[in-house]
Amino acid sequence: RAKEKGGNNFQLYHPEMNKRSLHRLNLEIHLRKAVEKEEFHVYYQPLVDLGTGKIFGMESLVRWKHPEWGMVSPGEFIPLAEETGLIVPLGSWVLKEACKQTYAWSLMGYPRLCVSVNISMNQFHQPNFVQLIEDTLRETKLHPSQLCLEITETVAMKNVSYIMETMENLKKIGVQISIDDFGTGYSSLSYLKKFRVHTLKIDQSFIRDITVDEDSAAIVTALIAMSRKLKIKSLAEGVETPEQLRFLKDQGCDEIQGYIFSTPLAPDQFEELMKKNKLLQVH
Ligand code: C2E
Ligand code: MG
Ligand code: MG
Ligand code: MG
Repeated sequence: RAKEKGGNNFQLYHPEMNKRSLHRLNLEIHLRKAVEKEEFHVYYQPLVDLGTGKIFGMESLVRWKHPEWGMVSPGEFIPLAEETGLIVPLGSWVLKEACKQTYAWSLMGYPRLCVSVNISMNQFHQPNFVQLIEDTLRETKLHPSQLCLEITETVAMKNVSYIMETMENLKKIGVQISIDDFGTGYSSLSYLKKFRVHTLKIDQSFIRDITVDEDSAAIVTALIAMSRKLKIKSLAEGVETPEQLRFLKDQGCDEIQGYIFSTPLAPDQFEELMKKNKLLQVH
């Protein structure tokens, strides 16, 4: 609006503009610069097999270390990055970084790790998305089976035929696909028949209450049972307590991720954890 008034005479402090949109604009300007300057870091949160108690992989989670503001959480800037399209270059950077790191770790003799990378729908819908995955794997030398793409259920439901075709092409390359935040979307379950995903990540909002709320417990029990029948792995997100862990193990959940084992870690911290051969204990 302010811009329309007088050509280049851009009025930053227009009275219409409330605090929220100012904050947003400020954030967007900084975010744009940060993408150019690559002010980001990738942290890795261990993914643990409930059967063996061992780390089998890690989720890459982006961190923004702003020179003045310090650490900005993805919850604050990912939605804005998605709205502005900045997620496309940022997402490509994270993807490459995560693949590079995982290949480096495989050279260091750790057990074979699988890295999960969050993919926003805008990235998924780029016409060259499958090509980007192929190119990144070739450039970083990571084996395709060591890459898992996390797609969020809410948005994964639009343009079903296009998504199926892209999923098929990704499957041909040999990468894995998981549905993130499962249970929070609006979709019907029927697409699970059409898309052969590897893993359902049960959203942490259900896990949080499993030991205190019967409905959450019922939903999680049903999701785990359904996954098993469909031969899809189930992974519980945000596991924090021994009681939650016990419950999930009893229900036959395959994998977990959460503070009970580890928070997301900087690469050197993740390496330390791998060296210790830390095992998940279920009591
Ligand atoms: P997500 O993909 O569902 O990632 C899991 C989030 O849960 C992470 O938050 C992680 O730190 C947090 N978490 C893990 N265990 C626990 C726990 O035991 N308790 C609690 N309370 N939280 C736990 P984070 O790192 O803040 O990321 C938030 C979201 O931002 C992610 O949710 C994902 O949707 C998005 N995101 C992060 N990195 C990227 C990225 O590189 N690309 C895209 N497109 N999105 C990203
Ligand atoms: Mg995720
Ligand atoms: Mg999630
Ligand atoms: Mg998510």
